Amino acid sequence: MKAIVWHGKGDVRCDTAPDPKIQEPTDVIIKVTSTCICGSDLHLYDHYMPTMRAGDILGHEPMGEVVEVGRSVTEFKKGDRIVVPFDIACGECWFCQKQFYSCCDTTNPNAGLAAEAMGHAPAGLYGYSHLTGGYPGGQAGFLRVVKAGANALKIPDGMPDEQVVFLSDIFPTGYMAAENAQIEPGDTVAVWGCGPVGQFCIRSAWMLGAGRVIAIDRVPERLKMARDGGAEVINFDEVTVYDRLQEMTRGRGPDRCIEAVGCEAHYAGYTDALLDKAKTLVGAGTDRAHALREAIMCCRKAGTVSVPGVYVGFPDKIPFGAFMNKGLTMKTGQTHTQKYMKPLLEKIRAREIDPSFVITHTLKLEDGPAAYETFRDKRDGCIKVVLKP
Ligand code: NAD
Ligand code: ZN
Repeated sequence: MKAIVWHGKGDVRCDTAPDPKIQEPTDVIIKVTSTCICGSDLHLYDHYMPTMRAGDILGHEPMGEVVEVGRSVTEFKKGDRIVVPFDIACGECWFCQKQFYSCCDTTNPNAGLAAEAMGHAPAGLYGYSHLTGGYPGGQAGFLRVVKAGANALKIPDGMPDEQVVFLSDIFPTGYMAAENAQIEPGDTVAVWGCGPVGQFCIRSAWMLGAGRVIAIDRVPERLKMARDGGAEVINFDEVTVYDRLQEMTRGRGPDRCIEAVGCEAHYAGYTDALLDKAKTLVGAGTDRAHALREAIMCCRKAGTVSVPGVYVGFPDKIPFGAFMNKGLTMKTGQTHTQKYMKPLLEKIRAREIDPSFVITHTLKLEDGPAAYETFRDKRDGCIKVVLKP
């Protein structure tokens, strides 16, 4: 099969790779029909995760048609169309029982290393380096879906890929971020970052009762999409975000602040190291948490800061004094995707939202390497890329 393979910093290629095989009775194999590039992939592309190895297949936002079924899988049969969440849950451990699926205790064989290197151990993730289990990703012709019954979602006939593929990650991620922001009716919600995740944070904030949404970015096309989604916008290249938010909220600050930027290609210094160097490298510290600092500083007293943005290691200079003295709450995490897929599918079916609004580029898998560059550099109005193997 063809697959998008990581070779080194800024070097991904569309290679030929072996087709995946059923390894456990709970696996299924899908023929991938749509698979997306995520802001999280940029952290790998720019090699800010030191635990990538040349040859790793990327991608964690896939869907496709079931072509082979492990012998204990009862939920799916050949020909079913399924969406695959980016995080792999067992559905049975203490964390999964509490619906903290991205904290699953059993699916990341390198959890020990992750805990040692980053202070935490996430669940296994597709296409997200050896710190999260080294699972081959879904930017490929075929994918082995692990523990399919506990994870994947069957899609009803008649719903096009474009409407449902984002159930794999960014729609649940935006929705969980808005839920984590603890929005009360009428609240003013500020969203840092108008990438794909920020766009779903904006739409989800409205669904959860926001009275006003203010979105912050610098990229004109992304600000426009935010405006189309009903947000007022701030271009951080043009004004000081803190001052502008104070003005817009009569000196009180937004009630809820969502940081949908993350380390955004900012882990300078994490160069060519591999797995064995993870601990020293990830522990090196960075000063690249600008949006997070700003969200904490801007949030009104007793407000909430929700952080879907991805961080690894030990970002520096978090203003914990302001955080404590203002009495803020912070909620964050890799998304518990499995918890949100079904309810959000229902919202799509009920036409409360059509997630395809975010797609700006639909390309062949072979165009993936060029698309990584376009997406990272935010050229050609690129907001979300869907690849069609
Ligand atoms: P993206 O890189 O396309 O978007 C990030 C946006 O932030 C860009 O538009 C950029 O211009 C903007 N930005 C940069 N600095 C900023 C600043 N100081 N203030 C305001 N905006 C700023 O990425 P994305 O796909 O939208 O993902 C966003 C973040 O969410 C990433 O960190 C990604 O890893 C993370 N993510 C988390 C989860 C999860 O489970 N928690 C899932 C998916 C993605
Ligand atoms: Zn993603």
